[in-house]
Amino acid sequence: MSVEVDKAEKKDNVLVATLDKVKQAVELAELSPEVYEHLKTPMRFLEVAIPVEMEDGTTRVYTGYRCQHNNVFGPYKGGLRYHPDVTTDSIKALSMWMTLKCSLVGVPFGGAKGAIVCDVQELTVKEKERMTRSYVRVLGSFIGPETDIPAPDVFTDAQVMAWIADEYSSNMREPSFGVVTGKPLAVGGCVGRNEATGRGVFFVAREAANAFDIPFDKARIAIQGFGNVGSNAAVLFAEAGCPVIAVSDVSGGIYNKDGLEIEKLIEHVKKTGFVKGFPGAQDIDNQELLAIDCDILIPAALENQLTGSNAGNVKAKIVVEGANGPTTPEADQILKDKKVLVVPDILANSGGVTVSYFEWVQNNYGFRWDLATVNRRLEEKMSEAFKMVYHYYCEKCVDSDMRTGAYMYSIKRLAEAMHYRGWLNDKNGQY
Ligand code: NAD
Repeated sequence: MSVEVDKAEKKDNVLVATLDKVKQAVELAELSPEVYEHLKTPMRFLEVAIPVEMEDGTTRVYTGYRCQHNNVFGPYKGGLRYHPDVTTDSIKALSMWMTLKCSLVGVPFGGAKGAIVCDVQELTVKEKERMTRSYVRVLGSFIGPETDIPAPDVFTDAQVMAWIADEYSSNMREPSFGVVTGKPLAVGGCVGRNEATGRGVFFVAREAANAFDIPFDKARIAIQGFGNVGSNAAVLFAEAGCPVIAVSDVSGGIYNKDGLEIEKLIEHVKKTGFVKGFPGAQDIDNQELLAIDCDILIPAALENQLTGSNAGNVKAKIVVEGANGPTTPEADQILKDKKVLVVPDILANSGGVTVSYFEWVQNNYGFRWDLATVNRRLEEKMSEAFKMVYHYYCEKCVDSDMRTGAYMYSIKRLAEAMHYRGWLNDKNGQY
């Protein structure tokens, strides 16, 4: 299936926006057009039928995907999503972002993404387990610790990863838990993996505040999305003394100009399911959250949240993209014109894949790191990645934004690896 899509028909299509950005970055970095030719199409796209025996004895056949975008650096790596609205284009874009992310932070993996088109709320736990095991069986040797390594994503978790590790190990007739990351600690998981993406967002936001001369411990933070990424980042901001003045989730948002008590908010969400109604805070909606007067805004929910129609209202000086693809190209342009620094997703939320890499290394060596080691190594990786990319952006992208700089930086590394592996028909060693 071609990744060239009809732009007229597909406004806000994340794949279209990503391909445009990749092409622009290849041209600005003066790389061979062959680099774009390699990146525009996934190396392999699998569409599979997944038969599942339901509780009533019938068999239902679900559609699944695994998109293996590029493996120039190492095994394919990327999450597995269970969602009814998954499209082939969104899976392709997500796999491409994984390639760019791994290259950017120097993790020796390629990019991949997988999905099953389903509504998990309608499944019993046993049906979900059978569906997961069936997916592993149909993928066969297309996944593996040296081939392609899935991880949790929307509506999949450590338990799903443990089923995958078990099914794969049975099929291989040997324990082979390195086939997935994000596992429970009892079966080869890594301490700190659950909080890693939010922690990485925190480190990157701190670096960005330093670069912008904003006193970090006074920086007012607003976070859209209070799930894994948003809530873990919020805890760290609060611990560092930054007032987290507004957060939101699917139910709406809350605001307190003096800062919300995050530990109590987490208790409230555990009890009620949502942030709304938190005592001592004012209810706001999601559009008000994005427009709140703050220093650092963190979209950590979904794609396409900052758009041409609301980006003009943003008052933050820095946007750190905890979510994948939260800012549309129109919004990018508006924020650039307003001199808002947007720290792009492929850098800002790469803490998750970084600790996934740590987990894979530990599985390969049969050795366990402690939490302090994991967090210290994550901090080093994220801070170094921010500084390298920010420096490169300041030097090379005077007329552009940090996303363009990050794409150029990442794709230059990919091009170099493609060159040495002999994938490019380069003249005189130029690529
Ligand atoms: P999650 O399901 O744990 O949390 C998502 C949060 O967003 C929830 O609080 C939900 O209520 C909220 N939300 C949903 N719709 C919303 C809306 N319309 N407005 C405001 N809030 C809304 O998911 P997560 O793991 O935290 O992932 C969030 C984003 O971060 C996704 O884009 C994901 O791809 C990206 N990401 C996650 C990880 C990770 O390790 N979890 C890694 C990299 C990127």
